[in-house]
Amino acid sequence: MRYVSTRGQAPVVDFADALLAGLARDGGLYVPESWPALAADEIRALSGVPYAEAAYRVTRPFVGDSIPDATYRAIIEDTYARFDHAATAPLVQLAPNHWLLELFHGPTIAFKDYAMQLLGNLFNHVLGERGERVTIVGATSGDTGSAAIEACKDRDAIDVFILYPHNRVSEVQRRQMTTVASANVHAFAVEGTFDDCQAMLKALFNDAAFRDDVRLTGVNSINWARILGQVVYYFVGAAALGAPDRKVSFAVPTGNFGNIYAGYVARRMGLPVSQLVLATNANDILSRTLATGTMKRGEVIPSLSPSMDIQVASNFERFLFDLLGRDGSRVAQQMAAFADTGELALAPGLWREATAMFTGYRLDDAGTIEEIRDSLARTGQVLDPHSAIGVAGGRAARADASVPMVSLATAHPAKFPDAVKQATGRIPELPPHMADIYSRKERFDVLKNDVAAVKAAIRARLAQKVQA
Ligand SMILES: *Cc1c(COP(=O)(O)O)cnc(C)c1O
Repeated sequence: MRYVSTRGQAPVVDFADALLAGLARDGGLYVPESWPALAADEIRALSGVPYAEAAYRVTRPFVGDSIPDATYRAIIEDTYARFDHAATAPLVQLAPNHWLLELFHGPTIAFKDYAMQLLGNLFNHVLGERGERVTIVGATSGDTGSAAIEACKDRDAIDVFILYPHNRVSEVQRRQMTTVASANVHAFAVEGTFDDCQAMLKALFNDAAFRDDVRLTGVNSINWARILGQVVYYFVGAAALGAPDRKVSFAVPTGNFGNIYAGYVARRMGLPVSQLVLATNANDILSRTLATGTMKRGEVIPSLSPSMDIQVASNFERFLFDLLGRDGSRVAQQMAAFADTGELALAPGLWREATAMFTGYRLDDAGTIEEIRDSLARTGQVLDPHSAIGVAGGRAARADASVPMVSLATAHPAKFPDAVKQATGRIPELPPHMADIYSRKERFDVLKNDVAAVKAAIRARLAQKVQA
């Protein structure tokens, strides 16, 4: 399998090189040259197999000959052995024909683990084979950072630096990043928003000298392997509910468009997905894009679902690439114009295509609190604020009640105890492996919202390690 950049100017690479590159050299994102398909009987056969086996079958075509079969199988088995539920991604019924897919059974209790644990193992394997090392820099609105740290800690060939917005993540999220005592883990609190952190990350990638010098790579969902790891649970959930003999819909709490884009990939691979409900909080740039046909950047509004407090959704570019007929130069043009003007207008035909693929939905903080409270009353299920938006979206935006609706639960409620307490009066209990998180010692640096300062801090940390 070969990978091309959405901006058409970067070298075409194999899976391992796309993995190590993170962002493509022309500023674009890597996507597979074509979509492999799973036949109907292959989808049917996913029902009832262990999650790791399903993950192997769904993702194998994308890896090509970068990794031998037996090795790749062992990587997958090892990846999902660390999850704390026998089903890995269990389905729970909420209402007639409405289901919750719990994606919080990994080490950091958010859905990011499902792909990030795989990514850490893939990096470890490919770097070991090549005898190389890398510096990973990640930007996080809260959950990517801890997932990346858990996946990369104590690995000799990797240093991991996480940029997160100072005072804009929950205490549990922060502590998951700042209390890991590994010499290769570095948490940087940036005085800015998540969009600032993500822009800074892109600036680091676009500085070729810095990029080559520190052997920079990324674990944000700009990295194709992140998307790949997320495609699996769409197949697993749908097959359990009768796909391919029955269509299934999904509602996805959305920020950076990574998770829901993985649902789009599953559909391109032949999964009969009826609706993809794109559920946002008050940072509704994507649901507004679907409503108006124009993507218009706004200010980030802090919300009770901070992992979705995003205005510039980087993965939208991957979908745009397909919308524009896989013409990299047109994508490059439109993205450059968006960077300049903060606006990207879809031509009417393309807008129609986008709304045929995604149904927009928006819920503000007050609605989120209400949904958490109502859900507890209706089902006994305690939802985190992100998952609550997905559940409300799945119920409100579904077009056909006879099609099973699966709302993705993207985080465990204990990750956002303040919102849950506000809604229900209860403080959700952390799983045992995290029970001591409030008493662990924290370690982080506060940095100015300034690329030069971040570069200097990264170089200083790497130099310290060389001396030590
Ligand atoms: C990251 C995250 C999201 C948003 O996912 P995207 O792939 O960025 O759209 C939603 N909920 C939680 C809990 C998250 O951590």
